[in-house]
Amino acid sequence: MNLNWIIPADRLRSLPPYVFARLDELKANARAQGVDLIDLGMGNPDGATPAPIVEAATAALKDSKNHGYPPFEGTASFRKAITDWYRRRYGVNLDPDGEALPLLGSKEGLTHLALAYINPGDLVLVPSPAYPPHFRGPLIAGADIHPLVLKADQDWLIDLAAIPDRIAERAKILYFNYPSNPTTATAPREFFEEVVAFARRYQILLVHDQAYAELAFDGYQPTSLLEIPGAKEIGVEFHTLSKTYNMAGWRVGFVVGNRHVIQGLRTLKTNLDYGIFAALQTAAETALQLPDKYLVEVQDRYRTRRDFLIKGLESLGWSIPTPKATMYLWIPCPVGSGSTDFALSVLQKTGVVVTPGNAFGVGGEGYVRISLIADCDRLGEALDRFRQSNIRFV
Ligand SMILES: *Cc1c(COP(=O)(O)O)cnc(C)c1O
Repeated sequence: MNLNWIIPADRLRSLPPYVFARLDELKANARAQGVDLIDLGMGNPDGATPAPIVEAATAALKDSKNHGYPPFEGTASFRKAITDWYRRRYGVNLDPDGEALPLLGSKEGLTHLALAYINPGDLVLVPSPAYPPHFRGPLIAGADIHPLVLKADQDWLIDLAAIPDRIAERAKILYFNYPSNPTTATAPREFFEEVVAFARRYQILLVHDQAYAELAFDGYQPTSLLEIPGAKEIGVEFHTLSKTYNMAGWRVGFVVGNRHVIQGLRTLKTNLDYGIFAALQTAAETALQLPDKYLVEVQDRYRTRRDFLIKGLESLGWSIPTPKATMYLWIPCPVGSGSTDFALSVLQKTGVVVTPGNAFGVGGEGYVRISLIADCDRLGEALDRFRQSNIRFV
C-alpha cells in the first residue's frame, strides 16, 4: 500500500532540521566500535537527587491519597512552597492561587505558553543563540520569529536599541534567559529594568526562563524578572528543579508571574494533561524547603569542574572567560571552522562529545558548548585526549 500521503502537519515541518541528528548517528557508530565516549554534549546533570527529596517521594508514593488524578492547578501546598520560596529568595510576594503554576518540567510550559498565546503569523522575538524550546515552541504555534542575534562583544546581552520600531510594534512575546544557556552570560539588574521598560512601551509579553537561578558562583546572585517594579503586569518567569536539585528525570518545574497569562496557560493545559503526580509534588515541595547547604554543594561541584576545565584548556592554548553561572562553557571554534565540523572532528578524533553552537540558532555559529556533567577525573581524561590528538583550538 502506498503510504506517502501520511505526512506530518505543517507545524512539524516548519521546524528547522535537528542538528543533533548527525551527531547522534556518529555517537552511535563510535559506541558500536567500542569507543569510550565522554559525553559533554547534553545539559543532563550527572549527580543523584538529594536524599531528603528521594525519601519524601518514597513516603508519598506509599500514600494512596496521592494515587488519583492530581488537581489541575497543582497541589495547594506545592504552590504555597513555590511562593514561599520566591519571597525568601527574591523578596517577591506572589499569590499561590493564580500567580504560580506547577509544570511537567519547564520545557513543557515554555512550549505550551506559545500555543496558548500565539496565533499563526504573530511576531515573536527570540535571541539567537537560545535554548531551542524558546524558538521551537513559537514555530509550532505558527509564529514568525524575529531573531535577536547576540554578540560576544556585547556580552551576549540583547541589544534592545537595535530592534527596529516596526518590529517592536508588531512583536507579541519576547523570550529570554539569563543566566543563559548556551552562552553562560549573566545580565545585570539594569538590563532587566530596560527590558521591562521596552516591553511596557511596546506592549510585549515577557517570558523569562530562569533555569539557572541557583547555579551561580563566587557570590553572584542572578536577578529575577519579577524583582523589577511593574514586571508582573507584563511578564512571567519559568523555573525548573531539573538542574538545581538534580531532578531532570522527575519532570518538575513551575511558572510564576502575571495571573492572566498563567490562567491562559492553565486553560490550555487542562485540555492536555493532569499535571504532576501528587507524590512528586510533595517531593518538589521538600526540595524548595531544603537548607542552603544543598545548593552550596551543587554550586561547589560545578564551580570546581569549571575551574579545572578552564585551566586545562588554557594549557592547550584555548582561552575562555570564566562564567559566573550555569553548568556550561561556551567556547569559540578555531578560526575558519564551523561549529558542526569542529564538533564532529572533536568527536572523531577524541571520543569527546560537545554541542555545536548552531544547534541553538544561527547566532551560535562559530561556538561549541561543553557541559560540566562529568567529574574532574573524566574531564582530565578529555583534556588528555585533546592533547594527544593535537586538536587545535585557536
Ligand atoms: C535545562 C533547561 C531547562 C529545563 O527544562 P525542564 O523541562 O524543566 O527539565 C529550561 N530552560 C533552560 C534554558 C534549560 O537549559
